[in-house]
Amino acid sequence: TTILAIESSCDETSAAVCKDGQILTNYIAGQAVHEQFGGVVPELASRAHMQHIVPVVDVALKQAGVTVTDLDAIAFTQAPGLIGSLLVGSCFAKSLALALDKPLIAVHHMQAHVLANLIAEPAPSYPFLCLTVSGGHTQIVLCRSPLDMEVLGETLDDAAGEAFDKSAKLLDLPYPGGPLIDKHARSGNPERFAFPEPQIPGLNFSFSGLKTSILYFLQDGKRADPDFVRKNLDDICASIQHRIVTILLHKLGRAAKETGIREVCIAGGVSANSGLRTALKEMGERRGWNTYIPAFQYCTDNAGMIAQTAWYLYQAGQFADLSVSPSARAEWA
Ligand code: ATP
Ligand code: MG
Ligand code: FE
Repeated sequence: TTILAIESSCDETSAAVCKDGQILTNYIAGQAVHEQFGGVVPELASRAHMQHIVPVVDVALKQAGVTVTDLDAIAFTQAPGLIGSLLVGSCFAKSLALALDKPLIAVHHMQAHVLANLIAEPAPSYPFLCLTVSGGHTQIVLCRSPLDMEVLGETLDDAAGEAFDKSAKLLDLPYPGGPLIDKHARSGNPERFAFPEPQIPGLNFSFSGLKTSILYFLQDGKRADPDFVRKNLDDICASIQHRIVTILLHKLGRAAKETGIREVCIAGGVSANSGLRTALKEMGERRGWNTYIPAFQYCTDNAGMIAQTAWYLYQAGQFADLSVSPSARAEWA
């Protein structure tokens, strides 16, 4: 069974091909156009998707060594995401499915982030917990089987990726700032500056207070020394990253304790963060968990995870009708 999957929920246009659940290729085209605006501009994102979609699919098929006639199904990201971006991928997928008379598979982007953990061996066994940390979401998900997931907790305001990106913006770092905070943090002292940990009940998160405390902290620092940020950048980044990571892992630890589950994964763009990856491994060793982290290419937005999810949907016979439309928000199936 050969499936072509398309991802276009935000600002990466990506196409992947999987054969019997094995990813043959995962091709991703980013969009540099947003850098100058310090964030993703939705209208520009959909235009870039329109320019990229045909060549991206073409490259993916060539890399996989298949032609459209070899395809058994076409999958696409249906929700959640930027509506204009989602429309490009969904229209393309629907048109191709119609032209080839092949089944269509609609994929939930956040479920796909979780299932990115099943692409490589060893894969977690069920049930497992997944901390999904991306640009728009922060969720603790209980996964009982590929198509049976439940959100145990999520952010009440900013996502973890936003916390990284907004902190980076306050430090005058270019967008997206998450990877740059990670880079500076490697040579900084994480204990140098203490930022508060929000007291949020249960398994939910909040990051907006952290952003405010960083803003005041930087204002105070600059008042004392206009060069404060430049002189202390590595330590500031390390301290911010340390706080975000400890907020995330405290709640993940709590979820593991409450559910008794010891199979623990992370997913989403922020799971590329080296501080989070290291801290998760250490915590797993301390607590006797088996921990899993997707390969870098499957952390940020990619069609490989869409293909992986589509393979489970295909086996379950869950196909979409050609009348399906994308949605910016998504109910958790
Ligand atoms: P969603 O999946 O919620 O719709 P998204 O798809 O835009 O959002 P991803 O592509 O999964 O999000 O992740 C992008 C986020 O990951 C950005 O906020 C980016 O700063 C962050 N990120 C990527 N690499 C790192 C890193 N090394 N350290 C910290 N943050 C990172
Ligand atoms: Mg992106
Ligand atoms: Fe994403």
